[in-house]
Amino acid sequence: MQISIKENSWLARLAAAKLRSPQVAMVLGSTIHLYGTRSVDFLKDQAWVCHELKHVQQFRQYGFTGFLLRYLVESVRKGYHNNRFECEARKAEQDRSLLQLFTIR
Ligand SMILES: [Zn+2]
Repeated sequence: MQISIKENSWLARLAAAKLRSPQVAMVLGSTIHLYGTRSVDFLKDQAWVCHELKHVQQFRQYGFTGFLLRYLVESVRKGYHNNRFECEARKAEQDRSLLQLFTIR
């Protein structure tokens, strides 16, 4: 499955401000939005890439709005860190098999 990367994304910039993080990657559908990092540097960090690829899978599992709604509800109830989709993505950081499932261009 093909994934694309958008550097210097304004959406990722908003997320960076909200999370008070200098570098942010966020997934919307099958696009990884980056802020504060270049795609070449992001791709070197396999754990980070696997984390975001898990979010791509979550989008595919629940559908675009289906996932966004669930993610939002989880965030409101449990915050960012304990959000079950984030827990799942953190576990996936060691799952290098995810790298075989996607082509990033
Ligand atoms: Zn995440």
